Formats: sequence, structure tokens, C-alpha cells
Amino acid sequence: MSGSVELLLDLTLPELEARLREWQQPAYRARQVWDWVYKQGATQFAQMTNLPVALRERLAAEFTLTPFEPVAEHLSTDGQTRKLALRLADGEIIESVWMRYETRESVCVSTQAGCAMGCAFCATGQGGLRRNLTAGEIVGQVLAFARLLAPQSRVTNVVFMGMGEPFANYDAVWKAVSILMHPAGLGLGARHIVISTVGLIPGIRRFAQERSQVRLAVSLHAPDDALRDQLVPINRAHPIGPLMDAIRYYVNLTGRRVTFEYALIAGVNDSPEQAQALAALLRGLPVHVNLIPLNPVAGSPWRPSPRDRVRQFQATLEERGIPCTVRLGRGTDIQAACGQLRARTLQPDV
Ligand code: SAH
Ligand code: SF4
Repeated sequence: MSGSVELLLDLTLPELEARLREWQQPAYRARQVWDWVYKQGATQFAQMTNLPVALRERLAAEFTLTPFEPVAEHLSTDGQTRKLALRLADGEIIESVWMRYETRESVCVSTQAGCAMGCAFCATGQGGLRRNLTAGEIVGQVLAFARLLAPQSRVTNVVFMGMGEPFANYDAVWKAVSILMHPAGLGLGARHIVISTVGLIPGIRRFAQERSQVRLAVSLHAPDDALRDQLVPINRAHPIGPLMDAIRYYVNLTGRRVTFEYALIAGVNDSPEQAQALAALLRGLPVHVNLIPLNPVAGSPWRPSPRDRVRQFQATLEERGIPCTVRLGRGTDIQAACGQLRARTLQPDV
């Protein structure tokens, strides 16, 4: 028995079963605990009234159910986007976002406190990496919103598009995915989960080998290495050629379509020639392109492409048979849109 308190959300169901077996508990106890945590939204072991008191007490002595405490909450003016700033046990602050769409309740989770990738247009990247999150710290973000939505509604989709680079924290991310999908817990469908990567090649290859239905999104932002080197510095180590090879490998293994994210920055990556080059790069692959007019980030000189330019870029791709949509900035008024998460909630200017 260890003296430190563990996060229960860090354990898969088989891991909890093994632990409770060591405690001489019957096999069904772990599922009872999971039911309380994931289906009923319990935040304390004392609520688990169908467990023997001694077991509740031992669980409470050795585990915690709360990986963080909320330190701020922002609701967008249209009421359809909510951002939570959460303080982890060691004081690090992360942010998570909930977005309501017509048929979906989507949660955008962070996978790291900060990010080491340093993309030029992203607020998260500006502060560097603080640390990886654990699986339970990722799962806990979904659970926090699930509790807010219950009982009227439930989380239907999870996107790994918050702070951090998921494939730089692969093990914890994949463990979180398996916990989120387990039918004894939240039971999220694989197709309702998206992992967005800046393009770490080993991560994409490993993800391909999972042969899962979980969806992959790749943040491209430039059709050539010279420009991508500047916007996405990791491109120097993971350039477009080998990146596309890894994506083809993923497509061959899984048969799944890949989403490409492309933030449109005025005068930087939004010309008709760049749209043509992007179409040529993606030709023949089952893809979908998400065009995101840049969300403004403080201290950056870059601006979003004007509406006409966005439309023209989209038309150029579509004429060449590349399906694409324009993603409108959700939650920009509360700094909750793509690339705006930076956990500066404690600063007075927010
Ligand atoms: N690290 C991962 C996932 C988190 S970022 C990744 O980079 O894919 C989620 C998405 O927001 C990425 O596509 C990222 O490129 C995009 N993004 C970052 N900053 C942005 C900004 N200022 N405007 C629009 N999109 C941005
Ligand atoms: Fe990190 Fe993604 Fe931001 Fe790049 S865009 S700095 S990979 S979070």
C-alpha cells in the first residue's frame, strides 16, 4: 500500500479490478465504482452507497476523484461555448472547452500543460512546455463537463485539440481514449473522438497501428516546407514529404479519412497558388480540409484572411476535388477558440 493519494481516473477498469482483487473484493466492485464515477457523476466515495463502508473508507484514503479545482469559468455571449480553467494538484493550470452544436456536445481537452512545439501563431506554444498530463487528468476534463451537462444532456464528442501536442504524450492520451470509450464508463464512440496532431511522424505511425476508428486530424497550415518551417518549427524535424508518407501509411492501414487543419493567415498562406499547391499535395488521398481563419493571438502581427480570400481558397480546393469546410471561430470572445488557450486566467487582463 502506498502512502500517496492516487487519481482514480488514472486507472483503466482492468487496473481497478486488479487493485480491488488485491484488497480481497469481489470482481463486480470495480464496475460499481466506475458506474458511480462515470455514469452518476459522483465526486466523493462517500456517495457510493452500495459499497461497504470499509471499502468506501479505504478508497477515500488511497484515491482521489478530483484531479483539479476550477479556478475560472467563462461562458461565451451566445451561451454555446464554455471555457474552464483548472488548477492541477501541483499548481499547473490548464484549460478545457465545451461547445454545443445542433446535435453534439463536444469537449475540447488539453493533453499537456503548455506545449513544446512553439508554433508561431499559437498562444499555447508561446509559454513552452510545463509538463505532460496524466490519463486521469485528461479524462477528468471530460468528466467535469459531463457533470455540468447532466442530467439533461451528455458529452457526445471529445476532441484532443486543447493545450499541448497529443502525440508528444502518446501513452497518456491513448490510455485516456480507452477509458473514455469503455462502455462501463462514458462509453464514447471512437468515431466521436478526434486527435489533432502537429504532425509528429512516429505518433501517426503508432496511431495507425492501433487500427482504431478514432479520427485523426493533422495541422498542416502550409503547403511547402519553406513556409511550414516558419509557421510550425517542428516541420524541420518532420518535413512534409515524410509526414505525407506517414499519413498514407495511416490511410492504408485504417481506411479512414484524414482531416487537415489549415489556419488562414492574411498574406502568409492564403494565396490561390498556395491553395493549388495544397490541392496537389492532398490529391488522391481521402481527406477533408478544415480552413480556420486565424484566431487573433495577443502580441502577434498576423491577422485572419479576409472573407473573400477565405472563400477563394475554399473554391480553389473544391474545384480540385478536395472537400473542405470553413470552421468559424467558436468562443473567440472568451479566448476559447483554437490556439487561444494559454491559461492566463489568473492575470488581471482576462
Ligand atoms: N497540438 C495539436 C492540437 C492542439 S492545437 C495541434 O497542433 O494539432 C488545435 C488546433 O488549433 C491546431 O490545428 C492548431 O494548429 C490550431 N491553431 C493554433 N493556433 C491557432 C490560431 N491562432 N488560429 C487558428 N487555429 C489555431
Ligand atoms: Fe502546440 Fe498545437 Fe499550439 Fe503548435 S498549434 S504550439 S503543436 S498546441
